[in-house]
Amino acid sequence: MSQEVSTAAPAHFIKNIVEADLAAGKYAQRRWAGQPGPAADHTAAPPDAAKIRTRFPPEPNGYLHFGHAKSILLNFGLAEQYGGRCHLRFDDTNPEKEEQEYVNAIVDSVKWLGCSWENDLYHASNYFDWMAQFAEYLISAGHAYVDSQPAEAMRATRGTLTQPGQDSPFRQRTPAENMELFKRMQAGEFPDGAHVLRAKIDMASPNINMRDPAIYRIRHATHHNTGDKWCVYPMYTYAHPIEDALECITHSICTLEFEDQRPFYDWLLERLAEGGLLQRPLPRQIEFSRLNLTYVVLSKRKLIQLVEEKHVAGWDDPRLPTLVGARRRGYSPEGFRLFAERIGVSKSDSLIDYSLFEDAQREVMNESDERRVAVLDPLKLIIDNYPADQFEDCLAPNHPLHPERGERAMPFGRELWIEAEDFQEVPEKGFRRLFPGNKARLRYGYVVECTGCDKDAAGKIIAVHCTYLPETKSGTPGADSVKVKGNLHWVSAAHACPAEIRLFDRLFSVPAPGARRAGDAPDLERDFLDDLNPASKTLITAQLEPALKDAKPEERFQFERHGYFAADRVDSQPGAPVFNRAVTLKDSWGKGST
Ligand code: ATP
Ligand code: MG
Repeated sequence: MSQEVSTAAPAHFIKNIVEADLAAGKYAQRRWAGQPGPAADHTAAPPDAAKIRTRFPPEPNGYLHFGHAKSILLNFGLAEQYGGRCHLRFDDTNPEKEEQEYVNAIVDSVKWLGCSWENDLYHASNYFDWMAQFAEYLISAGHAYVDSQPAEAMRATRGTLTQPGQDSPFRQRTPAENMELFKRMQAGEFPDGAHVLRAKIDMASPNINMRDPAIYRIRHATHHNTGDKWCVYPMYTYAHPIEDALECITHSICTLEFEDQRPFYDWLLERLAEGGLLQRPLPRQIEFSRLNLTYVVLSKRKLIQLVEEKHVAGWDDPRLPTLVGARRRGYSPEGFRLFAERIGVSKSDSLIDYSLFEDAQREVMNESDERRVAVLDPLKLIIDNYPADQFEDCLAPNHPLHPERGERAMPFGRELWIEAEDFQEVPEKGFRRLFPGNKARLRYGYVVECTGCDKDAAGKIIAVHCTYLPETKSGTPGADSVKVKGNLHWVSAAHACPAEIRLFDRLFSVPAPGARRAGDAPDLERDFLDDLNPASKTLITAQLEPALKDAKPEERFQFERHGYFAADRVDSQPGAPVFNRAVTLKDSWGKGST
């Protein structure tokens, strides 16, 4: 990640916490001792012991989305800014839903965002031995018990927000009984659901998460990493704090829905530290508000549904707010970073307008992308006084803000492609481009005067005619000798490269898909799928200037007046380009010169 971006980023409450911890020297004495962690020598200080460690802990059960990008950039950004480390950890404790395909895609997406974990790549499933040992310690210390109630009974005795729960009839089992049962659970003697191991905390706690939460359950399932070694698996809320502690994480940053879990996070780590199984200082959980964006959905469940029910073409469909989709569409990782900086980090829930994301993307692309010309809705322009066998070069700057990036030659000849909308036989008020009798400039080329048009039998305009003014070529002394108000882009018909272009609109036609709207009947439940925008994708065949013909996959350009376009990373090849529009231009080029 670029240093400038992260250090220039504004302060926020998590940075304040980190800075206070570092100023207090909180981590200076840290040791691995008693912890397996990523190090071989557990009595040594972890590398960079005094520095912060954060982590990004995806569950490999889906593809990453824009919300994950916020979390990734926050965690990796803090580590970079404060000279610490950020771990990429696969939180793969659930044997049932996880797949290697997701693991690979997550690795690619985090790298694509420009984040690097060096050797700090971990799998929660590698800590299963430790988690089981820690559970046995909790049993022996009287902090956990095996509950043999059926699941319904456990639910029924949990109480509600206003009612305390009731103790399980098995709560008073002795540590010896619990230990024997837990060993037998591990040995595979019981079917799924026969028993669970629960933390023994307080069934009357006002926080439901503290009412003896389950920490281990029986699941006769094959795990993608540990195979059939285990038939008991830790619950997420038990596993996660242990993973953090074993990796010497200092600041465990998560989204607000885990706020109510924090007391259990602390309770568990405190018990294990009391028992000498973990070293202090313990990791600290800090919550921030998740990213919500208009016109998209950021929930794995909904994204999976869109893909599986084929409402989109796959996980990398450019309309999806997944990171693989973003990459394929042509969004820039730097644009994600700028966006993340702008929206900041806080504890208040908000719905961010998608246009803020697009603005950040545009701002980055405006600076980085070279300019090219593409005619998206081609209409033939014939220059009747230009010889049919003659061609010449017109020079166009690659980047108007960066002359050092040079120019390219655009061939010019008698027949050009222009945008159909740039000609009006009978001009509407204020129209300044081509209409019979009017002059306009062909950008980087000549001023032309429109003389008329050809129509087919049905009256459709099939070609526009004009004459050019030879003394008005751009870049020559006579360029300004004739003043015109209209300015249009073009490509030489003899040299143009026809190409498929994919234009995208919002995937959903309302800002909050699936949300109830004013005036809805009280019992109406909306389905987010009903809010899909039926016109979110349009395919067209455009005419590109020849310099675009050999674009490499993922290469991106600003097509003058039309926005930022990237060569599709799957379907485009040099010689046969296919472009996706990542984002439109905010202000159309030539505005004021229509
Ligand atoms: P979802 O809520 O979409 O199902 P998840 O939280 O289950 O996603 P995980 O793989 O568990 O997905 O998430 C990894 C990390 O990304 C977690 O720390 C989680 O808090 C964070 N994260 C997930 N969604 C968002 C979001 N919208 N904004 C910010 N961070 C997020
Ligand atoms: Mg989650």
